[in-house]
Amino acid sequence: MSTKVMHHRPLNFWERIYVPEVARGLWVTSRHFARNLFIHTAHRLGLLKHLQAAVTIQYPEEVRPYAERLRTRHRLTQREDGSPRCVACMMCETVCPAKCIYIVAEEDPDPNIEKRPKSFDIDLGVCVYCGYCVEVCPEDAIRMDTKIMNIASYSREGMWYNMDRLLHPEKEGDVLLKPKT
Ligand code: SF4
Ligand code: SF4
Repeated sequence: MSTKVMHHRPLNFWERIYVPEVARGLWVTSRHFARNLFIHTAHRLGLLKHLQAAVTIQYPEEVRPYAERLRTRHRLTQREDGSPRCVACMMCETVCPAKCIYIVAEEDPDPNIEKRPKSFDIDLGVCVYCGYCVEVCPEDAIRMDTKIMNIASYSREGMWYNMDRLLHPEKEGDVLLKPKT
């Protein structure tokens, strides 16, 4: 595969002395400010409704609606008795391109089910949110539909999601960032 070398245009004299570019930037910002102020004022008066103005969303107190198919924090689905639907087939662990799923299987006491996970961990600090684990699962046992986005943590350990966290996403306080439905 050949490498494409990008050559940047050299700065001209006016760009090198910066002041005209700073003034140009200020002009662009001021123009947007004046336009938004004018249109929002007109909207308040019931005018120019066909024109859109910029809106500031007060994140995280306010969250814009998420798309239905948005991939958010993982969860493990449960059977009616509360046990995980996962049968520890290891397909998600195998397909995961980031290699961040760790499953330990054990025999299931139910003779109709071969295996169950003894432990099921995902390192979300490494996950790339591709959704392959969800797509490959034959049991619909893992989903990325919690609509939970604030998975940041001050430690690497905080990004480690064990089976309890995956089975009970509602236990954690991060539902705050769910959009209003
Ligand atoms: S979303 Fe992708 S990277 Fe993340 S755990 Fe699933 S398969 Fe792995
Ligand atoms: S693919 Fe589904 S059933 Fe198989 S180990 Fe992963 S979550 Fe469990």
